[in-house]
Amino acid sequence: MTENPTIFGKILRGEIPADIVYEDEFCLAFRDIAPQAPQHIVLIPRKRIATLSDAAEDDQPLLGHLLVATTKIANELGLVDDGYRVVINNGHNAGQEVFHLHLHILAGRRFDWPPG
Ligand code: AMP
Repeated sequence: MTENPTIFGKILRGEIPADIVYEDEFCLAFRDIAPQAPQHIVLIPRKRIATLSDAAEDDQPLLGHLLVATTKIANELGLVDDGYRVVINNGHNAGQEVFHLHLHILAGRRFDWPPG
């Protein structure tokens, strides 16, 4: 059993390819394989945290880092002017399928509120 058996663990280890748009010491961002919008980026911490609910007190700097990385990615991809949505699905009822914390960055169309 590997330390991180999820599909995102495989991407982090370079075992499967991904269309990477941003990376730094703490996180990696790549294009979603099944995009739900014209621009759909998945941003993950290199550290495996299964769900947002599993984040601990000492993960606070990492969680902040992910939001700052989100703004960098949005700027670099030109998403800011028209706006974008950031989503974290936490657990089964929210539709989480991959149990490695990730932020969805979605852009390129209008999004409904409340969400479906
Ligand atoms: P969630 O439902 O919040 O767990 O989101 C998981 C996301 O990962 C989905 O939007 C999938 O399309 C995406 N995904 C799954 N496998 C891959 C992959 N190999 N490369 C890129 N995105 C993936």
